[in-house]
Amino acid sequence: MKKLYDFRCSCGHLFEKFTESTQRTVPCNLCDEVATRIVSYGGPVLDPISGDFPSATRRWALNRQEKIKAERRTTQSHGPDA
Ligand SMILES: [Zn+2]
Repeated sequence: MKKLYDFRCSCGHLFEKFTESTQRTVPCNLCDEVATRIVSYGGPVLDPISGDFPSATRRWALNRQEKIKAERRTTQSHGPDA
């Protein structure tokens, strides 16, 4: 039976694909890496912070650093030196 499933590839791309329930992996829509089906209930939560997905963790850390930098810039622009 075909259903819409969530997939995540080794780069951390998330996407949905209409596929057979028996199909656990598909090529990523964005980079062609192998993407694994995410079980959104009854299964383990794939948290990037857990370290199970090093590339996803690195990406998450980079995004976080960029966000912190952006917030610092915003804060500074409102400071007395602006
Ligand atoms: Zn990908």
